[in-house]
Amino acid sequence: MSAAEDVGATRRKQEVTCPTCRQRAAWHGNPHRPFCSLTCRLIDLGVWLDERYRIPKENHEDDVP
Ligand SMILES: [Zn+2]
Repeated sequence: MSAAEDVGATRRKQEVTCPTCRQRAAWHGNPHRPFCSLTCRLIDLGVWLDERYRIPKENHEDDVP
């Protein structure tokens, strides 16, 4: 219960710099923040998914009855 939390924050027009394309995007009402759009979000995710988050799938036993 902190009332003073968002008083100053909501008054100002907040913007964020998209990490992917360096464009400025609105913070409020932006579902993809801190990115400017879904595209940039996916691009950033794609970089991550490159190798790190690759999960080895060797379960092919679903086909076997
Ligand atoms: Zn962007």
